[in-house]
Amino acid sequence: GKVLVTGANGYIAVWVVKTLLEHGFSVRGTVRSESKAAHLRKLFNSYGDKFEVVIVEDITKDGAFDEAVKGVDAIEHTASPFHFKAIEPDELIVPAVHGTTSVLKSAQKYGTSVKRVVITSSTAAVILPVTEPRVLTEADWNEASIQEVKEKGRDASAPAKYRASKTLAERAAWEFYEKNKDTLSWDLVVLNPPFVFGPAIHDVDVPENLNESAREWYLNVVKGKLDNDALATVGASHVDVRDLALAHTLALQKPEVAGERIIISAGAWKWQDFVSAAHRLDSRLPAGNTSYDPTKAVHLVQYSSDKERRLLGIKFRSIEETTKDTLEDFKARGWL
Ligand code: NDP
Repeated sequence: GKVLVTGANGYIAVWVVKTLLEHGFSVRGTVRSESKAAHLRKLFNSYGDKFEVVIVEDITKDGAFDEAVKGVDAIEHTASPFHFKAIEPDELIVPAVHGTTSVLKSAQKYGTSVKRVVITSSTAAVILPVTEPRVLTEADWNEASIQEVKEKGRDASAPAKYRASKTLAERAAWEFYEKNKDTLSWDLVVLNPPFVFGPAIHDVDVPENLNESAREWYLNVVKGKLDNDALATVGASHVDVRDLALAHTLALQKPEVAGERIIISAGAWKWQDFVSAAHRLDSRLPAGNTSYDPTKAVHLVQYSSDKERRLLGIKFRSIEETTKDTLEDFKARGWL
């Protein structure tokens, strides 16, 4: 079958495209401008006409994807801003929400052969403010960030602005689906990954221009940006970008995931876990906090992998594997 991948030039999306092609799918990728297509055309040149790029200049416009959805069997919607530089919350919320609804509306009108739409949401749409350790599941929704943005507007924290954009976009997708599902040819699947790390194959010249999550990893693990206290106490959960790409492929192949929201998480960590792994592999890299004891680390938020295991069953790469392959990629680029 043929799959439409939106935002095909992004860090995660290029891996999604590659994995789909490797599994025998044809791919039509959307990018915002011709300049962003060249790298993709070169990278997937060997796939011939199984890979094509189309330009969708403004994903927020109604009808933006009317042409792009024609003739595809499935859609992977990944395009959405992920950065912490927004002043007004709407800089993130408008493209996240309207990008999502415009894909769904186009799919409703012109996606007559579409059988499934997969949306890349995030654990940003799941996370809750907790004070005691807790395992969050697909039943949890991040209302707090929406509330914060409503109350504080541009003075809301940067994470709250991003998280609100992802929560509102995912909610809009489910609302659209619930309202229209009797008339749609397709079902909806949502994937909720935490921090995504691992090698990059998208177009990036210098590490400072990496996407948000990979740049943060570079700064903290290679450049030693965090102090010892932060290294041992600041963390989140992670998934390797290649495992997330596999999840996007499996989500098209498994009938039983229809209508499901699925957390795709390999586990919780503190930055020192990655710093230690990197230092073991390359002693030139910072050792970080040498008194850190991973068995004593407190992870207030963890994510359940129960549903993922039951429905997809991915064998996730470990912190060590992701670190090793990321450092190899950085070395090959001359960044190390
Ligand atoms: P990238 O920044 O590498 O990719 C983002 C993609 O979205 C690019 O193709 C970008 O296009 C496109 N995009 C961003 N803003 C707009 C806009 N206003 N209009 C049209 N297109 C836009 O990030 P990732 O690959 O990391 O992110 C991909 C998806 O994964 C996002 O939905 C993100 O929320 C989600 N995600 C990412 C995580 C991570 O840790 N990386 C974790 C959880 C979820 P352009 O290059 O033209 O700007």
